[in-house]
Amino acid sequence: MNKIKTDFLVVGSGFYGSVIAERIASILKKKVLILEKRNHIGGNCYSEYDKSTNIEYHKYGSHIFHTSNKKVWDYINSFTKFNSYKHQVLTNFKNKIYQMPINLETINSFFNKNLSPHEAEKYINKISKKYYKNKYDNFEEKALSQIGLELYSAFIKNYTEKQWNTNPKNLPASIFNRLPLRFNYNEDYFKNCIWQGIPKDGYTKIFKGLIDNKNIRLEKETYNLNKDYKVKYMTIYTGPLDRLFNYKLGKLKWRSLLFKKKIVNVNDYQGTSVINFPEKKFRFTRIHEPKHLHPERKFKNDKTLIIYEYPKTSDDEPYYPVNDEKNRLRHRQYKKMAYKIPKFEIGGRLADYAYYDMDMTISAALQKFESIKKNI
Ligand code: UDP
Repeated sequence: MNKIKTDFLVVGSGFYGSVIAERIASILKKKVLILEKRNHIGGNCYSEYDKSTNIEYHKYGSHIFHTSNKKVWDYINSFTKFNSYKHQVLTNFKNKIYQMPINLETINSFFNKNLSPHEAEKYINKISKKYYKNKYDNFEEKALSQIGLELYSAFIKNYTEKQWNTNPKNLPASIFNRLPLRFNYNEDYFKNCIWQGIPKDGYTKIFKGLIDNKNIRLEKETYNLNKDYKVKYMTIYTGPLDRLFNYKLGKLKWRSLLFKKKIVNVNDYQGTSVINFPEKKFRFTRIHEPKHLHPERKFKNDKTLIIYEYPKTSDDEPYYPVNDEKNRLRHRQYKKMAYKIPKFEIGGRLADYAYYDMDMTISAALQKFESIKKNI
């Protein structure tokens, strides 16, 4: 890339970078240069079409947009419409399908009972009571105290060990809080959110809309801290901080994923968009069937696309931070280094080393924009 003068430099075109770029370009009318090292925009939210089936799929795993944040919902709805998809997850244990998160159907089916909501709650409290503590220091302690040993062993322990490649005792209790426990038959995974759905025309279309602005320019380039990019106001960096500083303080650990696509010659392979596989005998953790994410679309009936999700430890494609003590400390030290760089801001899931959902990322970007606007 030739040296180009720009008002703002944004590194990374995921939600954080693209939303900030859009706001700066549309509201402040300043020039933004986005650097993206991948050969596509949108970060891990990128979606594309499988050529042989014409089914759109999320390249980095099924992304279901869900939020209760009105600001975020209004903002994103000016770039896309959403379909009426409601997320449901099933889990396959010993060749039987159960509902996930664990709800009344899961409990009754697993224990072969017919409990009412009140009875189920009493029963689960009874079997998990012996694991109660004042403070839960890790994922396993928290999970056992909520659901007891049997459900934990069947649906959680091995799945978590496969997914994170570590004993659940080494993971923070907060990860278990992502999984609700229900004593009713509600199977809507995101029932606590006011809005959810899949962008009608896919995620990539949103990113195209966000950066389609005469003030925004996109370049395929890996950012280099030592290069002089001629930035007037500020650089906003959204990539991992260890990479930014050339791993000076060591690597940050990430959990990564690998996806293997397969075309199957049936109309419907598994009847739903995601099935989890908690057992160790399967190396994959999930099977995605993306056509189910778009019930409003018409598909050819003779084929479907399925995608196996395998956990991967290598961090060349970072997905989830392994947020243990050691890595958190290392990230804090990197952050201090980043704060020392003049006219330099960081944000987003990778730079913050945080387990953000899409709406949290958009919300953080909108807030950051407000502070940029004030200070410019
Ligand atoms: N989890 C599990 N069994 C399941 C689903 C989830 O043990 O069937 C655990 C697992 O440790 C996972 C965490 O719950 O990392 C959070 O699940 P979530 O579905 O939010 O994970 P994500 O979709 O972000 O990978």
